[in-house]
Amino acid sequence: MGERFLLVVFDGLRPDLVRPDTTPNLLRLAAMGTRFARARSVFPSETRVCSATVATGCMPRRHGLVANRLAHPLDAARPGPAGRTVDTAQMPALLELEQELGAPLLERPTLGALLAAAGQELAVLSSGTTGQSHVLNPTAAALGQLTLSAHGAAACSPRGAALLATLDPPPTDAVARAEWIAEVFRTKFLPDPPAATILWLCEPDTSGHYQGLGSPANLAALRRADAAFGRILDDWQAGPMAGTLHIMAASDHGHATITGTVHATPRFAAEPHFAPCRLIPGASGGIVVPGGDAALIAEAAAWLTRQDWIGHVFAADGAELPPGVLPRSAVLVDHPRSAEVLFTLRAGPERAPAGLPGVTLNDGALPIGGGTHGGLTAAEMSIVMILAGPRARRGVLSEWPAGLADIAPTALALLGAPGAADMDGRVLVEALDEAVRPEAAPAPETWEPADGPYRQRLHRTRFGRQTYIDFGQRT
Ligand SMILES: [Zn+2]
Repeated sequence: MGERFLLVVFDGLRPDLVRPDTTPNLLRLAAMGTRFARARSVFPSETRVCSATVATGCMPRRHGLVANRLAHPLDAARPGPAGRTVDTAQMPALLELEQELGAPLLERPTLGALLAAAGQELAVLSSGTTGQSHVLNPTAAALGQLTLSAHGAAACSPRGAALLATLDPPPTDAVARAEWIAEVFRTKFLPDPPAATILWLCEPDTSGHYQGLGSPANLAALRRADAAFGRILDDWQAGPMAGTLHIMAASDHGHATITGTVHATPRFAAEPHFAPCRLIPGASGGIVVPGGDAALIAEAAAWLTRQDWIGHVFAADGAELPPGVLPRSAVLVDHPRSAEVLFTLRAGPERAPAGLPGVTLNDGALPIGGGTHGGLTAAEMSIVMILAGPRARRGVLSEWPAGLADIAPTALALLGAPGAADMDGRVLVEALDEAVRPEAAPAPETWEPADGPYRQRLHRTRFGRQTYIDFGQRT
């Protein structure tokens, strides 16, 4: 019997919420495996961008799903409000986009496709949005693979829909949905799982956004998601899969606490010379400049650096960058689908009133005290990553840099399937007991451009051919 791989993602889980009182089962997994102390998300730290990185083992600059709210690639030349925005949370919007493009949504081979080519299978079980589960394996239907969404048959592959028809209907409450999908994995898949499974739990993200980050309701949701995970661990440890199945637990990004709301759209619209441009708002947002007009890119980026509500500012490589502005390539999101100018809202490492470090402004309807992400604070960029199983080193806290792009190559290596070498991520050899240590030494880098009172700092780590984005802030 070949080895198997299970990835369980706790959406939006901050590593500092992995505690004995909240996630005893994640700590149980860590005790029997390797926990990565320096694991990082990608920029922008948004769910579909992260999901695409998990699916391809590549950074956004190569997979091309560069934002949760994506400027429609075919509207890049349309000025102002004429350009459309694709809401990647909605699977129908992604299918429509793929049809219009006549090209795959993700521009790199996916884990599902690579496993299919090796005669193996990927199953996706998700309580995340329909767009989120689709991104994890966009060609599941064509590959004959199984995607089961807790949002109903329309978001499932044909095999997932057939399975769904035999199950109790999924609940509508987010926490109950996460429990439901975990229980479906435990009862229907764990006894004899496919080569690889991704089990995506929408908590603690949903409760963190809406019910207060670190609030009793947020922690209660996390406890329930962890308990559902614990029931999987119980069966795994007691059953035949203990010697066969590797389990990686991870989060896609963290959360920072919202301390204020800013509405960027009317502020931008009040600048008449930016009328040809379009602002896409968010904790991490963008400005689409039609035709890539270099002068307008520079003006829009410079305008952003003069706003007190702005954090980072990035602009298209090749344009004459105004002082203080970083190239998009610095955060590995330089891609034709990226807006020409990217920004984050003002944020910092300060402690929020509720007690967790990391605060940010937000643009949208989320409540003050709720959580959000997309930006570059350590609270958003630090993620959970733990690998346990028959070949994993036990009880190790790894200080090597690691990140979301490393999950797919590590899964392929464990399953003996090719494809890892063409990914941006690396095989996490330091977690496998027969392996040597990584050959490279981590090389920290700091970028710190300034213009008068505006100054932004970005911390990255180079490690072999990988670059990890650690965190950044306006200083
Ligand atoms: Zn997420």
